[in-house]
Amino acid sequence: MSTLRFKALSELPFRDFRRDNHVQVPCKLSDLYCTNVFSENTMREYLAKGAFETIMSAVKKGTKIPREIADQVAVAMKDWAMSKGVTHYTHWFQPLTGTTAEKHDSFFTPIEGDRAIERFSGNMLIQQEPDASSFPNGGIRNTFEARGYTAWDPTSPAFVIGTTLCIPSIFISYTGETLDYKTPLLRALQAVDKAATEVARFFDKNVEKVTATLGWEQEYFLIDSALYQSRPDLLFTGQTLLGHASAKGQQLDDHYFGSIPTRVMNFMKELEIECMKLGIPVTTRHNEVAPNQFELAPMFEEANVAVDHNSLLMDVMARVAHKHHFHILFHEKPFKGINGSGKHNNWSLSTDTGENLLSPGKNPKKNLQFLTFFINTIKAVYEYSDLLRAGIASASNDHRLGANEAPPAIISIFIGSQLTNVLDELEKIKEGKLTPDEKTDLKLNVVGKIPMILLDNTDRNRTSPFAFTGNKFEIRAVGSSANCAEAMTIMNSIVAKQLTDFRNEVEALVRDGLKKDEAIFNVLREYIKQSRSIMFEGDGYSDEWAEEAVGRGLKNLKNTPEALKCETDEKFIQLYEELKVFNRREIEARNEIKLEKYSAVISIEAKVLADIARNHIVPSAIGYQNRLIENVKGLKEIFGDEGLQEVGGEQISLIREISAHIATIKRKVDELIDKKAEATEMEDRQAQAEAFCYRVKPLFNEIREASDALEMLVDDEMWPLTKYRELLFTR
Ligand code: ADP
Ligand code: MG
Repeated sequence: MSTLRFKALSELPFRDFRRDNHVQVPCKLSDLYCTNVFSENTMREYLAKGAFETIMSAVKKGTKIPREIADQVAVAMKDWAMSKGVTHYTHWFQPLTGTTAEKHDSFFTPIEGDRAIERFSGNMLIQQEPDASSFPNGGIRNTFEARGYTAWDPTSPAFVIGTTLCIPSIFISYTGETLDYKTPLLRALQAVDKAATEVARFFDKNVEKVTATLGWEQEYFLIDSALYQSRPDLLFTGQTLLGHASAKGQQLDDHYFGSIPTRVMNFMKELEIECMKLGIPVTTRHNEVAPNQFELAPMFEEANVAVDHNSLLMDVMARVAHKHHFHILFHEKPFKGINGSGKHNNWSLSTDTGENLLSPGKNPKKNLQFLTFFINTIKAVYEYSDLLRAGIASASNDHRLGANEAPPAIISIFIGSQLTNVLDELEKIKEGKLTPDEKTDLKLNVVGKIPMILLDNTDRNRTSPFAFTGNKFEIRAVGSSANCAEAMTIMNSIVAKQLTDFRNEVEALVRDGLKKDEAIFNVLREYIKQSRSIMFEGDGYSDEWAEEAVGRGLKNLKNTPEALKCETDEKFIQLYEELKVFNRREIEARNEIKLEKYSAVISIEAKVLADIARNHIVPSAIGYQNRLIENVKGLKEIFGDEGLQEVGGEQISLIREISAHIATIKRKVDELIDKKAEATEMEDRQAQAEAFCYRVKPLFNEIREASDALEMLVDDEMWPLTKYRELLFTR
């Protein structure tokens, strides 16, 4: 009998979750907003006017911060933080491990005469040197230059957690290469700002800055922490590698938007309080489709801050969950047979004049601006769909993409029937100059009608990985455990590149004698023609689409090794070098890190699965089989050989069935171990990842099938693993 499972289960009735941890919101949530953030308001209070203005200009315009101002900011930050009981500070950064990292240093500084003070200077604020040699670096840092350093990102506000002041930072190697998610994102945001501002100025000369916005939606599962601890697969891989579906799963769709269990509600309330204090503007919470699956989403923010807030949120969620005896699962597919989790990235561009460039406006001119950004985004995704696919690839997201419950691995764009009609009309525009009548007709009947149309645009297609949803694009294929920075770096880079090309093409036509709006229409028409094949309005989950997509020349890159192959293509290296987002060395290093990570993840899963199969499943099955054998022996004693067939026939066939499954498990686990060892030996990272994908991983399912069949045969009392029905229905 598995003590773990029964110990975990027996703990549950003794905890009264309704009373324990009952969370009461102490005041209006808005009163808590940003209380732990070194926000604009706090800075206004703690900084002299000149220093405050320098910082705001750095945040808004990217201007440099002189050393003496940094000193003043450091002192202000320290004073504010100490008023909140803070004793330490840390540069908070996002290395390529996928989690956040921090190294705490104390304000405490001994001085002469056995005295000590709290000290924090501009130098300490600007730079810290974590001993970072064990963060992933893809061979960028040799051991002799193993140091990396972190540097303050003034565009994302510092915040307090517990007794630590956290300073959002970038992380780079001593030789200047990026080792984190934030640095390339900041560069991509700069590139898109520059390119989009110039195009926006075609329509409005007052525009001086364009900001990319991001509103993420985070899905997750909550599992009781004792039950979580009882499953070695959850503990080590974040997902269940074995487990028969429970009789009731999500068939009745009764969890989606259903009432939230009290215990979960307490967790959510406390989480919201923590989010408010940290300035994470969460606004919605609800149940998701699968049992024990939930989602939360904030108001959208400037993309860099939104990315930081998502990473921070994931940390905070884990901590708050712990307090409520939950473990939070961000894995994309923790349970077989029920929905997985994603992280939708809603993306748009907005100007410093207060306009959303992906929102249609009140007049034809504004609508032409909308169409320009809308069509350029489509063209960018068309041109760089492989890069986008690679950017969301991971071992865990492979379970979800194309698994008929999340977007398929084929990148396509959904825009809705109304906008499809608009593009059809635009495509008909004749080449070159337009007569005044043609122009009027176009402006009134095509461009002028957009706002009305969009209001009625309710046909939202949930099966598309990339959809236009009224005033923003929604990237739905991002994994729930991913850092949003990667998708955002790609999105903003490809749109920056596309808008630069667009501007050059329009200006060339203007030089050839076309009016500006004619030139814009002409270029947009060509873009629509070129990008047609990526636009798809039908059911993305259907087999017909997979077939049709191939016919259209779209790729269906079904797994991570396939998706990652393209990342080092010259086309993408050129894109990134031109925009100064990455250099060749960084691109190659990152690709290598991802391949290594993929292989490592599958390798760990293989080990865990082999251990559980051999040490838990097979012994339990044999234990139960022995009981059956005893039973048959007893029956034989009573009924003799002749009577046995009649009264013991079923037991004997059960004994045989169990033996067959045990034999399968034994054979497949041996094979798994051999194949894993072979893959581990391989030197070429791409070939190694492919070996893990095509030779090691398929065995998981074969082992699982035999084990899940045993789960249905073996006495519940003897089954060693906590079952789906026990894990998934929190009360
Ligand atoms: P759904 O579940 O239907 O996809 P939600 O209402 O849960 O939609 O989430 C919509 C998300 O879109 C929110 O995170 C919101 O902040 C975000 N969003 C809205 N407008 C913009 C915008 N202009 N730019 C970026 N994100 C936006
Ligand atoms: Mg969504």
